[in-house]
Amino acid sequence: MTAVVVERLGPPDVMELRDVPVPVPGPGEVRIEVEAVGINFADVLAVAGEYLTRTKVPYTPGMEFAGIVESVGEGVSGVQVGQRVAALGGSGALAKYAVVNAAGLIPVPQSLSGAQAAAFPVSYFTAYHGLKTLGHGRSGEWVLVQAAAGALGTASIQLAKAMGMHVVAMASTEDKLRIARDLGADVTLLQDDEERVQKVRDAAGGQGVPLILEVVGGRRFQESLDMAASRGRIIVIGNASREQANLRPVELMKRNLTVTGLWLTSLMFDRAATAEAAQALTGLVGSGQVTPQVGPTYALADSARAFQDLLDRKTTGKVIIEP
Ligand code: NDP
Repeated sequence: MTAVVVERLGPPDVMELRDVPVPVPGPGEVRIEVEAVGINFADVLAVAGEYLTRTKVPYTPGMEFAGIVESVGEGVSGVQVGQRVAALGGSGALAKYAVVNAAGLIPVPQSLSGAQAAAFPVSYFTAYHGLKTLGHGRSGEWVLVQAAAGALGTASIQLAKAMGMHVVAMASTEDKLRIARDLGADVTLLQDDEERVQKVRDAAGGQGVPLILEVVGGRRFQESLDMAASRGRIIVIGNASREQANLRPVELMKRNLTVTGLWLTSLMFDRAATAEAAQALTGLVGSGQVTPQVGPTYALADSARAFQDLLDRKTTGKVIIEP
């Protein structure tokens, strides 16, 4: 079968198409015929060798995908051949077939298309944990969503609105802000607006925002501290700027701020939190209150371009690759 293979880490053009053997599911695993792969900023960082965990080469990228169960390994129960599933694995999805541990299967409403199902797990579970599990967001509260037209950003706006929250959305272009408004953002601001700190504070009645989903990092992290309300909660989810941030703990003391890290990969091992998120999210998707936002779609042969476009901030919604 054809697969994307990375032999040395680097920019997206290190990815090559290769002919590789079809993977065989071991005990506890299932083989899925891949319909669509959701591309995350984490995939770009993994190929570059800059992710939270070390990337071992050679490997086939692609951690989030949807497809049809094609074969089931020993000891797997409750999974039917022919069923459409979404899955989260460490890697391997940029191929015609992928094998994943059955524990990585994510229940998705059967009403979703393959691309919508592939756009669902990472962004929506992360948004849920950021807003609710760790962020403790409440109806009527303000939340700041950065990179608001991206995969996580669009998921966060929809979920926050479904929770009855008010949303300040930031992004780099007017077109991106329009997407945020269409999804229900109450106030939208260009990321480079010179008065952005004051405008965010003003949006929330001059007090600052009680909850911030921080995904840009670097010098923007300091701004997030300035935009936060007293006792504000800042959930550190990403570092898209790839810059270092300076944190002086004493600043947290002065306004009783809380900074909490969020990594979906480790949270997925928390079975209670995952079950709660899955139940809430499948209900919201099933009722149409949230709809995974499918962005630009690429063929497997154009994987490097898909990764580069994500890195160059050209994409909105979830970047999809269809093998
Ligand atoms: P997106 O679709 O949001 O794309 C990334 C966006 O980040 C860009 O479109 C851009 O939006 C914004 N951005 C800001 N600064 C930069 C920069 N210097 N270079 C590139 N992009 C920049 O991607 P994802 O939804 O996959 O991820 C969004 C963030 O959330 C990432 O930081 C990612 O690592 C993180 N994340 C973390 C998870 C976790 O478990 N901790 C899980 C999922 C995502 P704009 O042009 O509007 O600024």
